[in-house]
Amino acid sequence: MTASLGKVSNEELRRRDLDVLWHPTTQMKDHEWLPLLAIRRARGVWLEDMDGQRYIDAISSWWVNLFGHANPQISEAVARQARELEHVILAGATHEPAVRLAEKLVAITPQGLDRVFYADSGSNAVEISLKMSFHFWVNRGETDRTRFVALSNSYHGETLGTLSIGDAGVFRDTYKPLLLEPLLAPSPDCFGIAAENHDRHAAEKLAELDRVLSDHAGQVCAVIVEPLVQGAGGMRMYPPSYLAGLRRVCDQHEVHLVADEIAVGFGRTGTMFAFEQAGVSPDFMCISKGLTGGYLPMSAVLTGESVYREFYDEYTSLRGFLHSHSYTGNALACAAALATLEIFEREPVLERNRQTARLMRNSVTALEQHPHVGEIRQTGMILAMEMVADRDAMIPYDWTERRGIGVYRHALEQGVLLRPIGNVVYFMPPYVIDEDEIGQMAEAAISGINAATGATGP
Ligand SMILES: *Cc1c(COP(=O)(O)O)cnc(C)c1O
Repeated sequence: MTASLGKVSNEELRRRDLDVLWHPTTQMKDHEWLPLLAIRRARGVWLEDMDGQRYIDAISSWWVNLFGHANPQISEAVARQARELEHVILAGATHEPAVRLAEKLVAITPQGLDRVFYADSGSNAVEISLKMSFHFWVNRGETDRTRFVALSNSYHGETLGTLSIGDAGVFRDTYKPLLLEPLLAPSPDCFGIAAENHDRHAAEKLAELDRVLSDHAGQVCAVIVEPLVQGAGGMRMYPPSYLAGLRRVCDQHEVHLVADEIAVGFGRTGTMFAFEQAGVSPDFMCISKGLTGGYLPMSAVLTGESVYREFYDEYTSLRGFLHSHSYTGNALACAAALATLEIFEREPVLERNRQTARLMRNSVTALEQHPHVGEIRQTGMILAMEMVADRDAMIPYDWTERRGIGVYRHALEQGVLLRPIGNVVYFMPPYVIDEDEIGQMAEAAISGINAATGATGP
């Protein structure tokens, strides 16, 4: 990247920002002492600030980027589309990018997901799946079904509807009086459990979910899960056997199964979609984040023909799904998504990711015996290191100590953007990260964890 510095400095942009902006998931008072990253541009895994400092984007800019920033193929596809058609209403109209993308999504997603409903954010996709499931049962005459089952520690977004069906702790608690109550089943999260016992642990948790469904027979619309990795809940992981069992249990109780693949879809866990690893299909699948390669906001809900048919009738029957977002099926977003999927078609992405995932794991072996690292866990291109106060007793650090911010600040000084979730430091980089960059990312994490935990080694 060549330096071509403009007139605006980090300092000036920060000052102007704090006069007018209100940032997401932020206690704005923190920015009295925590400097904002002021980004001028980005290429590949690298972000460059207004003063020319460079940082590895180890978190893919909130898990959305797959093939690097300013990817020439995706940028070109978006530019080309912008000259042709930027957007058109999708109710009563259609366009080729929307149709081609839907055809491709149907082809690459698990069997039975043959209908695509577009939206513009992950939260909206989840909302749509909930409304569709509920409405399906209403159309069937089953009006007692008003409940949703979610897993403990799950996250499905932050609108009132999606907060309602999650267990997102501090994001949720304040708004509790406004929300629906989900039926929570215990997460199969395997934190601190030896690998050989993961399947047994998952089976025990599945039995508890089975009981929840028995206790609420005829009242439940759907069970919603983040397959394999509970992302915002701290990159907690569980085995595919749980998903296979979940499919069986949902069938037995005749409730829908909703897969929230917003964070884990598009190759993140080693397969194109996480559910593939269980060899079963959900009834609804929500996708977003990586869908456009990290370029434009877009999401989709996929479902099957039997769900679709339950809504298909004369208008006056009022069985139709009357839901919309202004930017539904945006043509620029479709073009970005098509260009992203073309990279998957042209290049051996999943195969390359296996090698990259191994390099990531090997880069942090020095932390295996660290007195304040309770666990290193990995599912494909997500690797998490959980800091603990006491490794033997697995005692967590008090959240008010904000150890993660210590890692964040230290890593930035080393030229790496990490953004720990509480005490969980994680790597979730763009797939194009190379060996040297992984080395730099790991150095920053290791020294950052040492600095934040007061440890001297390794
Ligand atoms: C990010 C995320 C969402 C919400 O997506 P937004 O685009 O931020 O609304 C929902 N579910 C999961 C699992 C996510 O990671």
